[in-house]
Order: sequence, then structure tokens, then C-alpha cells
Amino acid sequence: MTITYATLLSEITTPDGRDIFDPATGELVGKAPFRSVEVLDAAVARAKAAQPSWAARTDEERQSLLVRAADAIDAATEPLAELLSREQGKPLNGPNARFEVGACANWLRATAATDLPGRTLIDDGETHAEIHYRPLGVVGAIGPWNWPMMISIWQIAPSLRMGNTVVVKPSEYTPLSVLALAHVLGTVLPDDVVNVVAGEGDLGARLSSHPDIAKLMFTGSTRTGQAIIKSSAETVKRLTLELGGNDAGIVLADVDPKAIAQDLFWGAFINTGQTCAALKRLYVHADVYEDVCRELVEVAKTTPMGRGLDEDNVLGPLQNKAQFDIVAGLVAEAKSSGATILTGGTPEADAPGYFYPTTLVSDIDNSNPLVTQEQFGPALPIVRFETVDEAVDMANGIDVGLGASVWSADLDTARTVAARIQAGTVWINSHGGVHPMIPFGGVKKSGYGLEFGIEGLAAVSAPQVING
Ligand code: NDP
Repeated sequence: MTITYATLLSEITTPDGRDIFDPATGELVGKAPFRSVEVLDAAVARAKAAQPSWAARTDEERQSLLVRAADAIDAATEPLAELLSREQGKPLNGPNARFEVGACANWLRATAATDLPGRTLIDDGETHAEIHYRPLGVVGAIGPWNWPMMISIWQIAPSLRMGNTVVVKPSEYTPLSVLALAHVLGTVLPDDVVNVVAGEGDLGARLSSHPDIAKLMFTGSTRTGQAIIKSSAETVKRLTLELGGNDAGIVLADVDPKAIAQDLFWGAFINTGQTCAALKRLYVHADVYEDVCRELVEVAKTTPMGRGLDEDNVLGPLQNKAQFDIVAGLVAEAKSSGATILTGGTPEADAPGYFYPTTLVSDIDNSNPLVTQEQFGPALPIVRFETVDEAVDMANGIDVGLGASVWSADLDTARTVAARIQAGTVWINSHGGVHPMIPFGGVKKSGYGLEFGIEGLAAVSAPQVING
């Protein structure tokens, strides 16, 4: 049966649910079922009961079901993208809603195509040892509101591939997107293999302390990641923690500012800045500082922001009021410190939605809160440097390290600088691109554990050695 926006919404909403509003307009999107801890416990029990028969399927069967799930997502792209756009705020076009739905399908296919077979470790006549990757059981997944569908798939796809079942607790801001995704997956997958329980207040803590959750995957703030480490201690749960960051970009003196401006811009402003591995602090060599600032302003002024369902827009609102207030507060503080607002910085008074204009801030001190704190929105501080050592020190000077980037015409120089940066990924002449075959994870307080590729499959399995 063809899934339309209306049928999708009717499948996932409930008359007595929590109102979910469009952050661009304030209009009601739908009423999401917000459930209790008892409902979560029941979902974990169902996932636990479903896991042995899911694990007992052949690997080929699981691969084929993941591919069919990708096909089902492709077939439902438009209703899924419309719902995502209405609930999250991101535009349909650009690297936004349609892109995110497409990424879900791509990730499922790539995960289906990635193998982590057991292998012989030693076979020398005296010792025979093999390693095998067994399922863990039930994986818990707590996802954020910035890329709600894609990050859920990052958690679900490898877990399923390795024979686990999953219980997802979506962000209270974007439950409908994840419920919709699970509904589409459910048209193909067996019952209870993927379970989504939306709610707020105590579900996350319950999932992270639940005795029947073998592993928890979390993407969100460092503060909540720290709470999860504590609440998972009793059950010695395995954890993958993707806790965001404050990515630095270092632009060396030999760049062509005009040529890199678009990529720099999108490195920072993808999803209107609400991306864990977005460029959040830009360090530019003094020789090209004015030119890079000018070119970025050009791009900013010609990149349309507005309601996501209008096909022309590629930047949207902040997803929620709390995040709007964080961005507005940090920019106000930067302004009052004497930094220069090159563009943006003044949201339209009394306009509907949480729109904050694309903002570029120059002549800002490296110790300013807009630089040292994660803004997670469309406001980029641009700091001048004189020497590479100074830039590397500033990039490494904070306690998170998810991504970073180096921009230079000379690849060897860029790679040498990249090796000195404390971050899980350092991109060269781009920022933030992820790939289902390339492991991704942070250092310092950006968390631990790798996602994607073979390492991502290993992270949702229990390695078992057979020795003898
Ligand atoms: P949080 O990072 O605080 O995460 C909220 C989620 O965590 C909810 O699902 C909540 O569920 C759950 N949770 C809360 N406490 C616990 C706990 N003790 N154990 C387990 N789960 C728990 O999200 P916010 O929306 O508050 O975002 C805060 C900041 O995080 C943003 O300003 C931004 O800087 C950053 N962020 C980073 C993202 C990234 O991609 N890395 C994505 C989104 C935000 P429950 O309500 O049931 O407790």
C-alpha cells in the first residue's frame, strides 16, 4: 500500500498525545504518543523475546531485510521528508530533509553490504583460536532532534545486522519523525525487532539502567552522556557516546578564499548549524582573513532561509526555543564584547518560528563564549591567527574533539597540521561529511565508541574467542 503523508500521520499519532509544533510556523504537526516507563519496559520485554529468532536468521536474510527496508524508505521519501521538515524545521531541499531520508536508505544498504565475519587468529599446530562476533541482545538507542531519522538509522542498522533487536527513545522534540521511520521499517521487518517508545523525563534514565539492555547508543549533550555513564554502571552496559563537539576549522594562508567559501559555509551551516560535527569555530590566517570573511558573507547573503516546505529554502529555523535562546544569548554576548557582526545577529522581532538569521562574527577573541561553547546554530565566530602553532593551540584548547578541518592548497601541509589536532576526524578542504564505511567518533568529552563501517558493527556485537 502506498504511504501518504496523511496515512503516515494517522499511523503514528494519537488523539491524547503531546502536541508537536512546527518550529517554522508554530502550527500543530500532530499529537505524539508520550509513554510511561511501564510501556518502555514492555517494549524492552518484546524486543528481548524477539531477539533470539532474529539472531537465528541467516546473515543473508538479515542483509536482505535491511535492503528491503531501504527500498521501503525510498518509496516513502516524500511523506517522510514532509513530516521531518514540519517537525524538525529543516527544508526539503539542500542537505536537509530529502537528503536525510535518502541517507537512511543509503546507510541501510551500506550496512547490509558490510561484513564482519569471524576469523582465525592463530592456527600454528599448537594453538587454534578463532574470534566470532555474537549478538549482544537488545540495544537501546537515545537519539537527538537535529537529524532524528538519520541518527536513529545509524543506531538501528548495525544493531540489526549483528542480530540484535532495538528499543529507540527519540528526542521529545522530534518523536514523530522517528515513529514514522519505524512505521516504514515495520512494513518490512518482523514484529518487535525495532521498537520506538516516545516520552519525556524518565524514559532515558530507565533505558540506560535497564537490566535487559545490553548496550546503549546515545547521541546528544556531554552532560546527558555523563549521566548515562553513571546510570549504566550498575548493569555494566556497553556504551557508544556521540556527545557533539565544538569543531575547529583552520584556514591556512595559501587558500583561494572564493574557491573554498561554499564548502566552508556548508561545513558550518549544514542543518542551519544544528549538527554535531559542524564547523563551529573558524580560525583564519591573517593574510586571507578579510577575504575569507568577505566571501563567506557573500554566500550567507545568497543562501535562503525560511519555512522548510517552501522548495526554495535551504536553511531553516532552530528546532526549539531553548536552542534559539542559546544562539541568541551567545551572539548578544559576542556583540557586547565588541566583536564585529558581519551579517545577521538580529532576529526579526515578533516573527513566527525560531528563525535566527545566518550570522558571521569577526574580530572575536578566542576566549569569547561564542567560540568556547557549542552554539549549535547558525552563528559562526571567525578568529584571526598569525602562526600555525597558534591555530593548533586554539583548536586543541577546549575539552571536546569530535571533528576538525584544515583548509590549504597543499595537501601535505594540510595533513601534517591535521595530525596535530585532537579530534576523532580531521577533514581536509571540507568539513563534516560522513560515510557509512568510514568510522566516526570523538575524543575527549565528545565521547567514545565508533559508529559506521566494520568498527561500527564490532561495537554492537560481543566478540567471542573459541580457543582450542
Ligand atoms: P540531551 O543531550 O540532554 O538529550 C536528551 C535526551 O536524553 C532525551 O531523550 C532524554 O530522555 C535523555 N536523557 C536525559 N537524561 C538522561 C539520563 N540520565 N539517562 C539517559 N537518558 C537521558 O538533549 P537536549 O535536547 O537537551 O540538547 C542539549 C544540547 O545538546 C544542545 O543544546 C546541543 O548543544 C547538544 N546536542 C547535541 C547533539 C549531537 O548531535 N551531538 C544533538 C542534539 C543536541 P528523557 O526525557 O526520557 O530523560
